[in-house]
Amino acid sequence: MFVDQVKITVKAGDGGNGAISFRREKYVAAGGPDGGDGGHGGNIVFRVDHGSNTLLAFRYKRKFEAERGGDGSGSKFHGPNGQDVVILVPPGTLIKDAQTHKILHDMSENDEADYIACRGGRGGWGNRHFATPTRQVPMFAKNGTRGEGRELELELKMLADVGLIGYPSVGKSSILAKISAARPKIADYHFTTLSPNLGVVHTGGESGFVAADIPGLIEGAADGAGLGHAFLRHIDRCRLLLHVVDIACLEERDPIEDLKQINSELERYSPDLAQRPQIVVANKADLLDRERVDTDAFEAYCKENGWPVVYVSAMTGEGMKEMVNLAVETLRELPPLRVYKEEYEPEDAYVGGGKETSIRKENGKYIVEGEWLFNLLGQINFDDYESLNYFQRVLQRSGVVDALTEAGCEDGDTVEIYDFEFDFVK
Ligand code: GDP
Ligand code: MG
Repeated sequence: MFVDQVKITVKAGDGGNGAISFRREKYVAAGGPDGGDGGHGGNIVFRVDHGSNTLLAFRYKRKFEAERGGDGSGSKFHGPNGQDVVILVPPGTLIKDAQTHKILHDMSENDEADYIACRGGRGGWGNRHFATPTRQVPMFAKNGTRGEGRELELELKMLADVGLIGYPSVGKSSILAKISAARPKIADYHFTTLSPNLGVVHTGGESGFVAADIPGLIEGAADGAGLGHAFLRHIDRCRLLLHVVDIACLEERDPIEDLKQINSELERYSPDLAQRPQIVVANKADLLDRERVDTDAFEAYCKENGWPVVYVSAMTGEGMKEMVNLAVETLRELPPLRVYKEEYEPEDAYVGGGKETSIRKENGKYIVEGEWLFNLLGQINFDDYESLNYFQRVLQRSGVVDALTEAGCEDGDTVEIYDFEFDFVK
């Protein structure tokens, strides 16, 4: 079975711990602190594998965990950074948050670029960082922060310019085989095509395109009946639809009825998709008996709807060239393949209920603690302005700033959140 949607669990590596250590040398009674820092945890990284077009591998492996950073040790020894885990996905994969179903990233946006879904924790500082003129023997170091973990949903939306749609057995797979090097299964029973097939159509010039043949749409597909619904998502990105009908009416079908049915399925699934330009492909023209089939009525119906019609035969090859040329010309006028926008605001995860925070005052400092803050800190890069800004916003929006004010904290007071210290500014 074709797999185009999976849920996986990922976890970036935790940061290694900083070391508490003091220099020991000959003739040096009490050396200074030399505890090294912990290494950073490995990231969870997604990368496009151009040779793959299914998420099948994820049926067998659903958990990914990156390596922890090594602990620091004496002599300023820095713990090694944890290895990243690189997850290969087919082109066109959407990465979503499994809880909210919001899109985190569309791998087709720039398919050469890696996407870091979860960052490893930062390594903790060794005690050598904490020596001050008044504290020459720092007996503490910091632990690494936790690596981010989350549940993700991967969804494959294939990258095809052109989608072949139509009832089963009208000849979609035969057409794809004829115009590309793809070799989809062809037979005369319904539902032959269980997985979408992709074929590259070469036209001699630079105007080639990618066509997808998806399993036959059936009545009720938009409501999830049968296979149709699951496969409709594959044509979501298609810029142009080739709507194939059996013009020979071999299976007691009426091409006009078929066009109506399939379009109402599209409409129910996605009005946006139903608006996508269509070319009507009247296949099996080799068997067409114009005495029996009212092609005038058929052409009039298509014209009414603004769909161009081409008569073809996947069997004899008749009309194939015209069909491909028409597709190329139409594509030239159409916008590029759709890229899905990121829908996820990282702040969402840290704002709202269930975020227990405690604030206490100690030695004139305000100390803020909470499991969620500890995890959040793991993701902040304090050398990066953007990242700091983000941290600020989260403190504001989650109510930490208000809570500090309530606790009596004023501008200029020192606030400590784990290994992070700053002057309070309202
Ligand atoms: P799909 O379900 O729409 O993908 O249809 P297939 O490509 O599997 O074709 C269904 C049947 O119709 C197969 O037996 C094909 O050989 C036959 N077929 C497809 N195109 C033509 C055509 O142009 N002429 C004739 N005579 N038969 C065709
Ligand atoms: Mg087929």
